[in-house]
Amino acid sequence: MKRLAIVLLSGGLDSMLAARVLQEQGVAVEGLKVQTPFDASQQPAIDAARELGVSLTIRRVEEDYVELLRRPQFGYGKAVNPCLDCHLYMAKMARRVLDERGACVVASGEVLGQRPMSQKRQDLNLIARRSGLEGRLLRPLSAKRLDPTIAELEGWINRERLYDFAGRGRRPLMELAGKLGLHRLPERSPGCALTTTTFAPRVHDLFHFNTNVTLWDCDLLRIGRHFRIDPLHKVVLGRDAEENAALSELAARADAVEATLVEPRSFIGPRAMLCGPATGDLLQAVVRLMIEYTRQADSECREALVCIQQGQTRQDVRLEVGNVSSGDPLPRLIA
Ligand code: SF4
Repeated sequence: MKRLAIVLLSGGLDSMLAARVLQEQGVAVEGLKVQTPFDASQQPAIDAARELGVSLTIRRVEEDYVELLRRPQFGYGKAVNPCLDCHLYMAKMARRVLDERGACVVASGEVLGQRPMSQKRQDLNLIARRSGLEGRLLRPLSAKRLDPTIAELEGWINRERLYDFAGRGRRPLMELAGKLGLHRLPERSPGCALTTTTFAPRVHDLFHFNTNVTLWDCDLLRIGRHFRIDPLHKVVLGRDAEENAALSELAARADAVEATLVEPRSFIGPRAMLCGPATGDLLQAVVRLMIEYTRQADSECREALVCIQQGQTRQDVRLEVGNVSSGDPLPRLIA
Protein backbone atom coordinates (compact mmCIF):
# COMPACT_ATOMS: atom_id res chain seq x y z
CA MET A 1 0.00 0.00 0.00
CA LYS A 2 1.50 3.34 -1.05
CA ARG A 3 1.60 6.11 1.56
CA LEU A 4 -0.67 8.05 -0.70
CA ALA A 5 -3.82 9.87 0.33
CA ILE A 6 -6.62 10.93 -2.00
CA VAL A 7 -7.95 14.16 -0.53
CA LEU A 8 -11.43 15.37 -1.45
CA LEU A 9 -10.51 18.90 -2.37
CA SER A 10 -13.41 21.31 -2.68
CA GLY A 11 -11.14 24.35 -2.68
CA GLY A 12 -12.38 25.50 0.73
CA LEU A 13 -10.13 26.00 3.72
CA ASP A 14 -11.01 22.77 5.52
CA SER A 15 -10.08 20.45 2.68
CA MET A 16 -6.85 22.39 2.14
CA LEU A 17 -6.02 21.96 5.81
CA ALA A 18 -6.74 18.23 5.65
CA ALA A 19 -4.30 17.92 2.75
CA ARG A 20 -1.61 20.05 4.39
CA VAL A 21 -1.82 18.14 7.70
CA LEU A 22 -1.02 14.95 5.81
CA GLN A 23 1.73 16.56 3.77
CA GLU A 24 3.33 17.66 7.04
CA GLN A 25 3.71 13.96 7.88
CA GLY A 26 5.35 13.18 4.56
CA VAL A 27 2.25 11.52 3.11
CA ALA A 28 1.91 11.96 -0.66
CA VAL A 29 -1.34 13.71 -1.49
CA GLU A 30 -3.45 13.82 -4.64
CA GLY A 31 -6.52 16.02 -4.81
CA LEU A 32 -9.89 14.89 -6.08
CA LYS A 33 -12.60 17.37 -6.99
CA VAL A 34 -16.05 15.92 -7.55
CA GLN A 35 -17.86 18.35 -9.78
CA THR A 36 -21.63 18.68 -9.55
CA PRO A 37 -23.76 20.79 -11.92
CA PHE A 38 -24.43 23.13 -9.01
CA ASP A 39 -20.87 24.21 -8.23
CA ALA A 40 -20.15 27.76 -9.22
CA SER A 41 -16.71 26.81 -10.57
CA GLN A 42 -13.85 24.32 -10.51
CA GLN A 43 -11.43 27.19 -10.01
CA PRO A 44 -11.25 27.14 -6.18
CA ALA A 45 -10.16 23.49 -6.27
CA ILE A 46 -7.63 24.21 -9.02
CA ASP A 47 -6.23 27.13 -7.03
CA ALA A 48 -6.11 25.04 -3.84
CA ALA A 49 -4.21 22.23 -5.58
CA ARG A 50 -1.72 24.75 -6.94
CA GLU A 51 -1.25 26.31 -3.51
CA LEU A 52 -0.66 22.86 -1.97
CA GLY A 53 1.56 21.71 -4.83
CA VAL A 54 -0.52 18.58 -5.50
CA SER A 55 -2.04 17.11 -8.63
CA LEU A 56 -5.81 17.36 -9.02
CA THR A 57 -8.25 14.97 -10.63
CA ILE A 58 -11.64 16.43 -11.51
CA ARG A 59 -14.46 13.91 -11.88
CA ARG A 60 -17.92 14.97 -12.86
CA VAL A 61 -20.89 13.31 -11.19
CA GLU A 62 -22.73 10.86 -13.42
CA GLU A 63 -26.38 10.61 -14.45
CA ASP A 64 -27.27 8.69 -11.25
CA TYR A 65 -26.68 11.93 -9.33
CA VAL A 66 -29.98 13.19 -10.78
CA GLU A 67 -31.96 10.49 -8.97
CA LEU A 68 -30.10 11.29 -5.76
CA LEU A 69 -31.25 14.88 -6.13
CA ARG A 70 -34.81 13.92 -6.97
CA ARG A 71 -35.20 11.56 -4.02
CA PRO A 72 -32.41 11.89 -1.48
CA GLN A 73 -32.45 8.99 0.92
CA PHE A 74 -31.49 11.27 3.82
CA GLY A 75 -33.55 14.28 2.79
CA TYR A 76 -32.74 17.91 2.00
CA GLY A 77 -31.18 20.59 4.14
CA LYS A 78 -32.65 24.07 4.43
CA ALA A 79 -33.02 24.38 0.64
CA VAL A 80 -32.74 21.53 -1.86
CA ASN A 81 -29.30 20.41 -0.73
CA PRO A 82 -29.12 16.65 -0.25
CA CYS A 83 -25.81 17.01 1.58
CA LEU A 84 -25.59 13.65 3.29
CA ASP A 85 -26.44 11.75 0.11
CA CYS A 86 -24.07 13.98 -1.81
CA HIS A 87 -21.15 13.42 0.60
CA LEU A 88 -21.80 9.71 0.38
CA TYR A 89 -21.80 9.90 -3.43
CA MET A 90 -18.48 11.76 -3.38
CA ALA A 91 -16.96 9.25 -0.99
CA LYS A 92 -17.95 6.42 -3.34
CA MET A 93 -16.25 8.21 -6.21
CA ALA A 94 -13.19 8.72 -4.03
CA ARG A 95 -13.11 5.01 -3.23
CA ARG A 96 -12.87 4.25 -6.93
CA VAL A 97 -9.96 6.66 -7.27
CA LEU A 98 -8.31 5.15 -4.17
CA ASP A 99 -8.48 1.71 -5.81
CA GLU A 100 -7.19 2.98 -9.16
CA ARG A 101 -4.26 4.80 -7.55
CA GLY A 102 -3.44 2.18 -4.94
CA ALA A 103 -3.72 4.78 -2.18
CA CYS A 104 -3.93 3.84 1.51
CA VAL A 105 -6.57 6.33 2.55
CA VAL A 106 -9.16 8.86 1.43
CA ALA A 107 -9.17 12.08 3.46
CA SER A 108 -11.66 14.90 3.67
CA GLY A 109 -11.87 18.24 5.45
CA GLU A 110 -15.03 17.32 7.33
CA VAL A 111 -15.11 18.53 10.91
CA LEU A 112 -17.21 16.71 13.48
CA GLY A 113 -20.37 18.68 14.27
CA GLN A 114 -19.59 21.52 11.87
CA ARG A 115 -22.68 21.01 9.70
CA PRO A 116 -25.88 19.76 11.25
CA MET A 117 -26.98 17.83 8.21
CA SER A 118 -23.94 15.81 7.25
CA GLN A 119 -21.19 16.04 9.83
CA LYS A 120 -22.66 14.57 12.98
CA ARG A 121 -20.77 11.55 14.30
CA GLN A 122 -23.35 9.11 12.96
CA ASP A 123 -23.23 10.83 9.54
CA LEU A 124 -19.46 10.54 9.31
CA ASN A 125 -19.64 6.87 10.30
CA LEU A 126 -22.46 6.22 7.84
CA ILE A 127 -20.54 7.80 4.96
CA ALA A 128 -17.49 5.65 5.71
CA ARG A 129 -19.54 2.47 6.03
CA ARG A 130 -21.85 2.90 3.03
CA SER A 131 -19.14 4.11 0.69
CA GLY A 132 -17.07 0.99 1.29
CA LEU A 133 -14.37 3.12 2.90
CA GLU A 134 -14.80 1.93 6.47
CA GLY A 135 -11.38 2.20 8.12
CA ARG A 136 -10.04 4.03 5.07
CA LEU A 137 -11.78 7.39 5.32
CA LEU A 138 -9.77 9.80 7.43
CA ARG A 139 -10.88 13.20 8.70
CA PRO A 140 -7.55 14.68 9.75
CA LEU A 141 -9.13 17.72 11.42
CA SER A 142 -11.30 15.65 13.79
CA ALA A 143 -9.47 12.30 13.71
CA LYS A 144 -8.70 12.21 17.43
CA ARG A 145 -12.43 12.28 18.17
CA LEU A 146 -13.18 9.45 15.74
CA ASP A 147 -12.27 5.78 15.50
CA PRO A 148 -8.76 5.26 14.13
CA THR A 149 -8.43 4.33 10.48
CA ILE A 150 -6.30 1.44 9.24
CA ALA A 151 -3.64 3.93 8.15
CA GLU A 152 -3.36 5.16 11.73
CA LEU A 153 -3.44 1.68 13.24
CA GLU A 154 -0.72 0.51 10.86
CA GLY A 155 1.40 3.55 11.63
CA TRP A 156 1.35 4.88 8.05
CA ILE A 157 -0.16 8.05 9.45
CA ASN A 158 0.70 9.33 12.93
CA ARG A 159 -2.55 9.83 14.83
CA GLU A 160 -0.78 12.03 17.36
CA ARG A 161 -0.15 14.59 14.65
CA LEU A 162 -3.81 14.77 13.66
CA TYR A 163 -6.40 17.08 15.26
CA ASP A 164 -9.51 17.03 17.45
CA PHE A 165 -11.53 19.96 16.13
CA ALA A 166 -15.28 19.89 16.54
CA GLY A 167 -18.13 22.32 16.02
CA ARG A 168 -18.66 25.35 13.88
CA GLY A 169 -15.90 27.68 15.11
CA ARG A 170 -13.64 28.95 12.33
CA ARG A 171 -10.98 30.68 14.39
CA PRO A 172 -9.00 27.54 15.42
CA LEU A 173 -8.95 26.44 11.78
CA MET A 174 -7.71 29.84 10.66
CA GLU A 175 -4.98 29.67 13.29
CA LEU A 176 -3.97 26.22 12.09
CA ALA A 177 -3.81 27.53 8.53
CA GLY A 178 -1.36 30.19 9.68
CA LYS A 179 0.76 27.63 11.57
CA LEU A 180 0.89 25.34 8.54
CA GLY A 181 1.95 28.13 6.24
CA LEU A 182 -1.30 28.39 4.28
CA HIS A 183 -1.26 32.11 3.80
CA ARG A 184 -3.19 32.44 0.55
CA LEU A 185 -6.55 31.40 1.88
CA PRO A 186 -9.41 30.68 -0.52
CA GLU A 187 -11.79 33.53 -1.17
CA ARG A 188 -15.41 32.91 -0.32
CA SER A 189 -17.02 31.47 -3.41
CA PRO A 190 -20.77 31.33 -4.20
CA GLY A 191 -20.50 27.59 -3.55
CA CYS A 192 -23.26 25.12 -4.23
CA ALA A 193 -26.48 26.57 -5.63
CA LEU A 194 -28.53 23.81 -3.99
CA THR A 195 -28.03 25.44 -0.61
CA THR A 196 -29.75 28.64 -1.79
CA THR A 197 -33.46 28.87 -1.04
CA THR A 198 -34.04 31.13 -4.06
CA PHE A 199 -32.70 28.37 -6.31
CA ALA A 200 -35.07 25.73 -4.96
CA PRO A 201 -38.12 26.68 -7.11
CA ARG A 202 -36.14 25.88 -10.25
CA VAL A 203 -35.31 22.41 -9.00
CA HIS A 204 -38.88 21.74 -7.86
CA ASP A 205 -40.26 22.95 -11.20
CA LEU A 206 -37.88 20.73 -13.14
CA PHE A 207 -38.76 17.56 -11.26
CA HIS A 208 -42.46 18.41 -11.20
CA PHE A 209 -42.78 18.73 -14.97
CA ASN A 210 -40.04 16.43 -16.22
CA THR A 211 -39.88 12.74 -15.42
CA ASN A 212 -36.73 12.23 -17.46
CA VAL A 213 -34.30 14.78 -16.03
CA THR A 214 -30.69 14.55 -17.18
CA LEU A 215 -27.45 16.23 -16.13
CA TRP A 216 -27.94 18.55 -19.09
CA ASP A 217 -31.18 19.80 -17.53
CA CYS A 218 -29.34 20.26 -14.24
CA ASP A 219 -26.55 22.23 -15.94
CA LEU A 220 -29.19 24.53 -17.40
CA LEU A 221 -30.62 25.25 -13.95
CA ARG A 222 -27.72 27.51 -12.96
CA ILE A 223 -28.07 29.75 -15.99
CA GLY A 224 -30.38 32.68 -16.69
CA ARG A 225 -34.00 33.46 -15.87
CA HIS A 226 -36.36 30.50 -16.07
CA PHE A 227 -39.97 30.75 -17.27
CA ARG A 228 -42.59 28.02 -17.39
CA ILE A 229 -44.77 28.17 -20.51
CA ASP A 230 -46.76 24.95 -20.05
CA PRO A 231 -46.10 21.45 -18.70
CA LEU A 232 -43.98 20.55 -21.74
CA HIS A 233 -42.14 23.81 -22.29
CA LYS A 234 -39.80 26.03 -20.38
CA VAL A 235 -37.73 28.94 -21.63
CA VAL A 236 -34.46 30.24 -20.21
CA LEU A 237 -33.15 33.73 -20.97
CA GLY A 238 -29.49 34.67 -20.56
CA ARG A 239 -28.92 37.63 -18.21
CA ASP A 240 -25.52 38.70 -19.53
CA ALA A 241 -22.91 37.87 -22.16
CA GLU A 242 -21.47 35.05 -20.05
CA GLU A 243 -24.84 33.36 -19.66
CA ASN A 244 -25.64 33.83 -23.35
CA ALA A 245 -22.36 32.05 -24.17
CA ALA A 246 -23.19 29.31 -21.66
CA LEU A 247 -26.57 28.74 -23.37
CA SER A 248 -24.82 28.37 -26.73
CA GLU A 249 -22.38 25.86 -25.23
CA LEU A 250 -25.23 23.82 -23.78
CA ALA A 251 -27.13 23.88 -27.08
CA ALA A 252 -24.11 22.40 -28.87
CA ARG A 253 -23.50 19.60 -26.38
CA ALA A 254 -23.87 16.03 -27.58
CA ASP A 255 -26.13 15.16 -24.63
CA ALA A 256 -28.51 18.11 -25.19
CA VAL A 257 -32.17 17.22 -24.74
CA GLU A 258 -34.86 18.41 -27.16
CA ALA A 259 -34.25 22.15 -27.05
CA THR A 260 -33.95 25.14 -29.36
CA LEU A 261 -31.54 28.01 -28.94
CA VAL A 262 -32.83 31.32 -30.22
CA GLU A 263 -30.30 34.08 -30.86
CA PRO A 264 -31.33 37.62 -31.78
CA ARG A 265 -30.14 39.01 -35.10
CA SER A 266 -32.22 42.11 -35.76
CA PHE A 267 -32.12 43.42 -32.19
CA ILE A 268 -29.71 43.40 -29.26
CA GLY A 269 -31.06 41.17 -26.55
CA PRO A 270 -30.68 37.94 -24.62
CA ARG A 271 -30.35 34.47 -26.09
CA ALA A 272 -33.10 32.05 -25.16
CA MET A 273 -33.29 28.29 -24.76
CA LEU A 274 -36.70 26.77 -25.42
CA CYS A 275 -36.89 23.34 -23.79
CA GLY A 276 -39.40 20.93 -25.30
CA PRO A 277 -40.70 20.42 -28.82
CA ALA A 278 -40.69 23.72 -30.73
CA THR A 279 -43.61 25.07 -32.77
CA GLY A 280 -43.90 28.34 -34.70
CA ASP A 281 -46.27 29.82 -32.10
CA LEU A 282 -43.94 28.95 -29.26
CA LEU A 283 -40.94 30.43 -31.04
CA GLN A 284 -42.91 33.63 -31.56
CA ALA A 285 -43.75 33.70 -27.85
CA VAL A 286 -40.08 33.16 -27.01
CA VAL A 287 -38.97 36.01 -29.25
CA ARG A 288 -41.61 38.28 -27.71
CA LEU A 289 -40.19 37.44 -24.32
CA MET A 290 -36.64 38.14 -25.54
CA ILE A 291 -37.76 41.55 -26.80
CA GLU A 292 -39.40 42.27 -23.43
CA TYR A 293 -36.02 41.72 -21.81
CA THR A 294 -33.99 43.92 -24.16
CA ARG A 295 -32.58 47.11 -22.73
CA GLN A 296 -34.64 49.22 -25.12
CA ALA A 297 -37.73 47.08 -25.60
CA ASP A 298 -39.43 48.13 -28.82
CA SER A 299 -43.11 47.73 -28.08
CA GLU A 300 -44.01 48.38 -31.71
CA CYS A 301 -41.73 45.64 -33.02
CA ARG A 302 -43.82 43.27 -35.18
CA GLU A 303 -41.15 41.15 -36.82
CA ALA A 304 -37.71 39.94 -35.78
CA LEU A 305 -34.80 38.14 -37.38
CA VAL A 306 -33.37 35.42 -35.16
CA CYS A 307 -31.02 32.47 -35.52
CA ILE A 308 -32.57 29.15 -34.51
CA GLN A 309 -30.26 26.33 -33.45
CA GLN A 310 -31.37 22.74 -32.91
CA GLY A 311 -28.46 20.41 -32.26
CA GLN A 312 -25.76 21.40 -34.75
CA THR A 313 -28.24 22.86 -37.26
CA ARG A 314 -28.52 26.64 -37.38
CA GLN A 315 -30.68 28.79 -39.56
CA ASP A 316 -31.76 32.43 -39.66
CA VAL A 317 -35.51 32.93 -39.70
CA ARG A 318 -37.75 35.97 -39.74
CA LEU A 319 -40.63 35.66 -37.28
CA GLU A 320 -43.85 37.63 -36.92
CA VAL A 321 -43.99 38.58 -33.27
CA GLY A 322 -47.27 40.49 -33.26
CA ASN A 323 -47.51 43.53 -31.10
CA VAL A 324 -45.20 43.06 -28.15
CA SER A 325 -47.24 45.45 -26.04
CA SER A 326 -50.49 43.65 -26.84
CA GLY A 327 -50.91 42.59 -23.23
CA ASP A 328 -50.55 38.84 -23.94
CA PRO A 329 -49.48 37.27 -20.64
CA LEU A 330 -45.79 36.42 -20.41
CA PRO A 331 -44.75 32.90 -19.40
CA ARG A 332 -44.55 32.50 -15.64
CA LEU A 333 -41.19 33.40 -14.12
CA ILE A 334 -40.01 30.41 -12.10
CA ALA A 335 -37.01 32.13 -10.52
S1 SF4 B 1 -23.45 21.76 -0.43
FE1 SF4 B 1 -23.98 20.94 -2.47
S2 SF4 B 1 -22.05 19.96 -3.16
FE2 SF4 B 1 -21.86 20.25 -0.96
S3 SF4 B 1 -22.56 18.33 -0.07
FE3 SF4 B 1 -24.32 19.73 -0.10
S4 SF4 B 1 -25.37 19.24 -2.02
FE4 SF4 B 1 -23.29 18.39 -2.18
